[in-house]
Amino acid sequence: MKIRVLGSYGSRLPGFITSCLMLNDNLLLDVGTVTSSLSLAEQDAVTDVLLSHAHLDHMDGLAFLVDNVLTLQRQPLRVWAPAPVLQTLRDHLFNDKVWPDFTRLPTAEAPALLFRALVEGESAEIAGLKIDWARTCHQVYTAGYCLSDREGSVLFSGTPRARSRSGHSGGDVPISRRRLSSPRFPIGCGNAPMPVVT
Ligand SMILES: [Zn+2]
Repeated sequence: MKIRVLGSYGSRLPGFITSCLMLNDNLLLDVGTVTSSLSLAEQDAVTDVLLSHAHLDHMDGLAFLVDNVLTLQRQPLRVWAPAPVLQTLRDHLFNDKVWPDFTRLPTAEAPALLFRALVEGESAEIAGLKIDWARTCHQVYTAGYCLSDREGSVLFSGTPRARSRSGHSGGDVPISRRRLSSPRFPIGCGNAPMPVVT
């Protein structure tokens, strides 16, 4: 699995990019300020986006990514997340007020964006990777992911344990890479929100 860290910060400054990892050149794990990091051709090569949660520093790049590739696309950009995360995007971003509803543009029959809800307790196959997930502890609905291929697995909690006074992490992307037989995530506030690898 090829992993490219495009950004890992909770805000933006020159040289500091919000959370986004690129896997195997076609899958984005969270979508921070990706359009500042990738060429247009690289953006067009992205087929799938996997979102941990809908805080701005984890999804602000999606609005501009879909707009950039709209006229280049041969197929819609698929966005995968638990249903509550996708609903937040529908309600507060792609609502034809803050930003156009690209799940219905350029046409409802052939949109630029497809939302795909992950089912709790079920694995998914996304961009050639096996995806397992569980809810992790954060202020909003957040998923931690285990992404696997033949070489091994990567755990991504979506939120680090430490929090600022504002309640948001604002810190580095938490990621752990090692071989593992089965992922376990602590669930619910009050426990450690970082993933546990066994
Ligand atoms: Zn957050």
